[in-house]
Amino acid sequence: MNVDKLMQNLEKKHPGESEYLQAVREVLESIEDVYNDNPQFEAAGIIERIVEPDRILTFKVPWLSDDGKVNVNIGYRVQFNNVIGPYKGGLRFHPSVTLSGLKFLGFEQIFKNSLTTLPMGGGKGGSDFNPKGKSDNEVMRFCQSFMMELWRFIGPETDVPAGDIGVGAREIGYLYGHYRKLARENTGVFTGKGINWGGSLVRPEATGFGNVYFAKEMLSTKGESFKGKTVAVSGFGNVAWGAVRKASELGAKVVAISGPDGYVHDPEGINTQEKFNFMLELRSSNNDVVEPYARKYGKATFHPGKKPWEQKVDIALPCAIQNELNQKDAETLISNGVIAVSEGSNMGCTPEAIKTFLDAKILFGPGKAANAGGVATSGLEMSQNSMKYNWSAEEVDEKLHSIMRSIHESCVKYGKTSGGFVDYVKGANIAGFLKIANSMVDQGV
Ligand code: GLU
Repeated sequence: MNVDKLMQNLEKKHPGESEYLQAVREVLESIEDVYNDNPQFEAAGIIERIVEPDRILTFKVPWLSDDGKVNVNIGYRVQFNNVIGPYKGGLRFHPSVTLSGLKFLGFEQIFKNSLTTLPMGGGKGGSDFNPKGKSDNEVMRFCQSFMMELWRFIGPETDVPAGDIGVGAREIGYLYGHYRKLARENTGVFTGKGINWGGSLVRPEATGFGNVYFAKEMLSTKGESFKGKTVAVSGFGNVAWGAVRKASELGAKVVAISGPDGYVHDPEGINTQEKFNFMLELRSSNNDVVEPYARKYGKATFHPGKKPWEQKVDIALPCAIQNELNQKDAETLISNGVIAVSEGSNMGCTPEAIKTFLDAKILFGPGKAANAGGVATSGLEMSQNSMKYNWSAEEVDEKLHSIMRSIHESCVKYGKTSGGFVDYVKGANIAGFLKIANSMVDQGV
């Protein structure tokens, strides 16, 4: 297999789709040796088949704003690969959403879902609609219009969407409510549902909790733990929120958190119920700014337009968006003594930043392994829906914890280098790929 040649061909077919090409290149580089050692993959055309989505749905989403004006957004669902289970992955509503971005996320999702040990294929979708600053009624009308198109193509055994950036409990409610009426079924096609109508306990916190569990496993390979460590977290959504809570619970001090306006540094740590509640209040204010935190807590400082990676911390958890941590940030973190970096966001670090961490032998958890706890808990939600039964929070959390341990083990199995260092990027890509590729071979072309 010649990665450069394959990439050149792919670039011709998908011009300008830089994020998608970045995600594919990383996987191909990691799996090159395993691929060459298994001629059945080449014979079954696995690479050519795995990099193309099964289908891409693109549709118009017209909706009325409160002032009676007609607005039009674009909706997408990328059904990437369903060889091991129904397409599964979130919907992202954000003005930056493009098809290239969703293809990258859908591609990542195949491997992430494969790592969870649960039977879920990979998919992703969304829209360039921005829910920020919209009224509840506007969001509802948008979601209903979005579902008007998508409902025919999804189903509990076909494609099970969930939330992602810009799609939280409110949006899932409106989307699911409309789906239920159109499809005339009530079997739980979405995950991330409300707790009264089929949702799972721990799902909102699961991605952040899982990321911390994964980092905990990485740290334990070095005889380290979260206890007494300082942590910086980026992002201000569910993922960051879960990570802050779990890291504090394990005895770490989260000293920095960011929003779109900059970051706050709190030397005393974001670690009391009152501080958590205040953060939640800020989040539900629908504009996500962190600056008021620094005004409320005297010792905290606000750093407008900056990223939290300039702070001296032991552990960094990027939990905002793709490519949010670059090479310079990586160098700053390393020179300040960081020991572990674990991605709550999908592809949170640029390829140059990842290389910088790996060259410096820093423990680095790639998103498709480290943030798989969210979709894994979605899988647990699907299991509970099928059984028409609910597990307790403790039961779900225990299962999530054990899935994260197993993902870590798979990464170690395939990522351990001869010097003993674990390249988790390689490990995650190979482990995720093998299950998919073998299943594709088993099922024929
Ligand atoms: N959006 C989340 C992810 O990137 C969760 C997807 C899901 O639960 O289906 O993995």
